[in-house]
Amino acid sequence: TNIGTDGPIRMRTSDLSTVTSAERAQLLHRPVLKSDEMISKVKPIVEDVRLRGDKALLELTAKFDKAKLTSTVIFPPFASETMQVEKDVREAIDQAYSNIRKFHKAQADNTTLVVETMPGVVCSRFARPIARVGLYVPGGTAILPSTALMLGIPAQVAGCKEIVLATPPRADGSISPEVMYVAHLVGASAVLKAGGAQAVAALAYGTETVPKVDKIFGPGNQWVTAAKMLVQNDTDALVSIDMPAGPSEVLVIADHTANPAFVAADLLSQAEHGVDSQVVLVGINLTPEHMAAIEQQVEEQALALSRVDIVRQSIGKSIIVKASSVEEAIAFSNDYAPEHLIMHLEDASAKVPSIDNAGSVFVGPYTPESCGDYASGTNHTLPTNGYARQFSGVNTLSFQKHITSQEITMSGLQGLGPVVATLADCEGLEAHANAVRIRLRAQEA
Ligand code: NAD
Repeated sequence: TNIGTDGPIRMRTSDLSTVTSAERAQLLHRPVLKSDEMISKVKPIVEDVRLRGDKALLELTAKFDKAKLTSTVIFPPFASETMQVEKDVREAIDQAYSNIRKFHKAQADNTTLVVETMPGVVCSRFARPIARVGLYVPGGTAILPSTALMLGIPAQVAGCKEIVLATPPRADGSISPEVMYVAHLVGASAVLKAGGAQAVAALAYGTETVPKVDKIFGPGNQWVTAAKMLVQNDTDALVSIDMPAGPSEVLVIADHTANPAFVAADLLSQAEHGVDSQVVLVGINLTPEHMAAIEQQVEEQALALSRVDIVRQSIGKSIIVKASSVEEAIAFSNDYAPEHLIMHLEDASAKVPSIDNAGSVFVGPYTPESCGDYASGTNHTLPTNGYARQFSGVNTLSFQKHITSQEITMSGLQGLGPVVATLADCEGLEAHANAVRIRLRAQEA
């Protein structure tokens, strides 16, 4: 709905006690992503980079980012004049780096799991870093050093050997010094000055100067997302991606203890991301006065924001859902599977065990989503569009993979071999059975 530029900034309200199941399903629904259409649009760009490499990359960067470059990659050591950052910003980046690093280092799997499944049959599992990773840091409309931190730190603590950070250059051909400073902190091995589908293609296939990677991470607009989906399905690229991405979302659950100003601020911090941001407020038995206070705060705080025009549109598409118990509210949230879940609830931490689906949870009145977005330590690259049902957010394990191993002794094979030979016979795979029996016969001899 277009609500103009001066109408009230209001959300639509539904009541879970009166909605039909079809209406409830509609409340859980996100706008459809037109992925097929976008994939056919990015295909020529991806093909161009795959076939013509750097030449195509330079032309596309001139076309889409208005930057005339002579080379696309910067290798370390990065010149200090490219990472001059204001002192307060540098200190803030350093503190965020420290917190995010602490939390992600603790997630790294450095253990070897060893289990003797039968006497003489030992199975183990250990982790190894993905050798070469590509990190996409969006840069079309804003500078995002926070995304560089969120992707670069887990890559660094996982021990990835090559970390290629891609981000669109500014029209003068430079990269923002904040992003360059983070590239330096996380030990990036190359910075690719390109954005959109062309950057994703260069990471997936490599060019004369851009190192090819094994996995591509990071958010981006629909060009970036479609290109990631396209290259992950090309066996020639042999590349994987972190997760399907869509517009960012928040679901806020509020009860009688919720501070209206805090709730409104949290809704708006999501709404300012973009016009396609999804914002849901689930109110539990809120009095009409309490609800009116929240709505008034939304309006008042929104009008003071520089991004009020974006907020007006995203709040106009947002919903308030009335619930009559905490259980009903959490059941709705679990079905919605929000990227971000904020709990303005009495004794909020006691309710966390009933959360089944969410990207990241913000517990209690003093835990704004902004802290997780920037610096508490958790990652902000999270599953959207309901994918929190089956995906985790980006974490250190996203940059590791596991190898299993087994070692069987001679007597172990005497116990296990007949089991395997029987199953191989049952499947008609004689050579499999033979690989066991040839050893058992050698032992008998
Ligand atoms: P971007 O870096 O994703 O995209 C810029 C690139 O898009 C350009 O370099 C250009 O190559 C390409 N492009 C633009 N228009 C094109 C066209 N018509 N044809 C071909 N290519 C075109 O930057 P952005 O556009 O500012 O988007 C950033 C996105 O990232 C937003 O959607 C934002 O919500 C999202 N984001 C998400 C998170 C998160 O963690 N969820 C964090 C930061 C940003």
